[in-house]
Amino acid sequence: MRVGSGFDVHAFGPGEHVMLGGVRVPHTHGVLAHSDGDVLLHALTDALLGAAGLGDIGQHFKDTDPRWKGADSAHFVQATLAMLRARGLRVGNADLTLLAERPKLGAFREAIRARIAELLEVSPEAVNVKATTTEQLGFLGRAEGIAAQAVVLLTDSP
Ligand code: MG
Repeated sequence: MRVGSGFDVHAFGPGEHVMLGGVRVPHTHGVLAHSDGDVLLHALTDALLGAAGLGDIGQHFKDTDPRWKGADSAHFVQATLAMLRARGLRVGNADLTLLAERPKLGAFREAIRARIAELLEVSPEAVNVKATTTEQLGFLGRAEGIAAQAVVLLTDSP
């Protein structure tokens, strides 16, 4: 078994939605990003890569590469999963945390969980999505941006 962690931040910018775990969530702002700026999927990708000893998202999917301009971040997760599969690894479970004052996750939590489970090819019970604020402290508390953490466990394929 192998464990990995990931962390990601994006600043808010102009827009009317944010992508969270592959789900479009209406918001008063978008995020500044080269890809679609999905912090949950970026943290998840880094956790997957970390667990496999494969470096980080920036090494595999450069944020200067025109291929990834406006990209659906689901691609990063799926491409990473293919690398894991080639190494005989699969996902045991994943635990993700959104750090933000807004938007609130509640109404979207189950949809995000289902989408992440689909991307990871596991059952929804193997995925947990939670959220916290930072008690109005720091850049997250001032709602200048949004952050996410992810932890995954990889197991050897049977
Ligand atoms: Mg990112």
